[in-house]
Amino acid sequence: MASHKYEFFGPPGAFVVTTSISIITYLTYFLLTPSGSPPPAFLSSPLTYLQTALSTSSLFHLPTLALFLAYFGFTVLLQYILPGPLVPGVVLANGKHNLYKLNALYTSLTIFSLLAGATLFFGGANWVGWVYLWDHHLHLITALNLFCISLSTFLYIYSLRPGPHLLAEGGTSPSPLFNWFIGRELNPRPLLSFLDLKSFCELRPGLTLWIILNISNTMHQLRTTGSITDSMILVNLFQGWYVLDSHFHEPAVLTTMDITTDGFGHMLVFGDLAWLPITYSIQTRYLALNPVHLGPLGVLSVLAINGLGYYIFRASNSQKNLFRTNPSDPKVAHLKTLQTKRGTKLLISGWWGTSRHINYLGDWVMAWAWCLPTGFGTPLTYFYVVYFAILLLHRERRDDEACERKYGEDWGVYRRIVRWRIMPGVY
Ligand code: NDP
Repeated sequence: MASHKYEFFGPPGAFVVTTSISIITYLTYFLLTPSGSPPPAFLSSPLTYLQTALSTSSLFHLPTLALFLAYFGFTVLLQYILPGPLVPGVVLANGKHNLYKLNALYTSLTIFSLLAGATLFFGGANWVGWVYLWDHHLHLITALNLFCISLSTFLYIYSLRPGPHLLAEGGTSPSPLFNWFIGRELNPRPLLSFLDLKSFCELRPGLTLWIILNISNTMHQLRTTGSITDSMILVNLFQGWYVLDSHFHEPAVLTTMDITTDGFGHMLVFGDLAWLPITYSIQTRYLALNPVHLGPLGVLSVLAINGLGYYIFRASNSQKNLFRTNPSDPKVAHLKTLQTKRGTKLLISGWWGTSRHINYLGDWVMAWAWCLPTGFGTPLTYFYVVYFAILLLHRERRDDEACERKYGEDWGVYRRIVRWRIMPGVY
């Protein structure tokens, strides 16, 4: 059997990651409580606490699963009916490119407007939709887990059909479990030809659900305390802005590694649809249960950190996108470049001369601004900065290897010119 270069420590790693990410989504529910996060009972006897919590909770609720399916279907419908340009993706290994209908911003604005209307007209924070989402959070976690496992399995089976469809390099290992996890098919479009499932899931149902959960958590704080804290407002603004910004810059997703290189398997399915909305909303869930008041100095400090992170993140990503799409634009035409034998050029000055992934640094600085408003009463809300650092460090290595394959020895020259990986002067 030909040797296959595995990522994530191969099939055992895929198994461990699959089970741990699922367990972590449940832990976010059981460990964030008003009497401690984690509660003292967990700290004194973790297993007993979790056994009791599980035996006294019902995990599955059919209407919540049906509601999620309806929501998912509605986001598909919005992609279909709302206007948006048809944009070509990158040229693929077969010399062709896919067309993508870009209207994520219209989709999310439509959903948020409908929710705002329902909130205004049907009882504000007491609107049944917000109460339901809060009361059925655990059921939603189960619904997302079931949906993701089913979708990943369907995609795996679908990718086995004969035909000329492209497979991702990583997803053709000898292990079916690993291929199910990492994703076999590059751009599956089952059932509906307009619906590119991977780019759709990457930007739409999960990201929008994250913000919906944040609002639901905010409404819970309002129902239970009669007001909304400055910390809650800030986290909502930062994360809401991040999502709308990614929808506004939707074309940028078409050149990301997820779309151009990775298959669509459980790793991305779960990451996009379950992991992201559940674990990225733990700051607002914590604040809903434990309100924190920052005061003017706290607000200004957190605003400054977020502003700095956003500036680095957006300016560097936009500089590269502009350079890749319109290199003669005066904003990038003066930058120094390295001509590669592959034909494309690499930036070696400007943001991309400071480190090879300066955009990751900006993203990580923003991550701090999302966690600091929760204060210092729990380490759990800082899970995001730790997890995100690991994700970005791992992602940088993957991209570095991919670029080495793409650019050959030119990448070595580039590495010597731009020495730092992420943080200039440090790493
Ligand atoms: P990048 O946007 O960093 O793109 C990497 C690619 O850019 C390389 O493969 C290469 O492709 C090109 N490139 C690299 N160096 C140069 C250079 N010097 N000049 C020109 N082109 C260069 O990759 P990601 O998709 O990983 O990240 C995009 C954004 O998404 C980041 O800001 C990241 O922080 C964010 N992100 C956020 C996540 C979250 O959960 N919040 C998760 C993952 C990412 P080529 O040469 O072929 O064009």
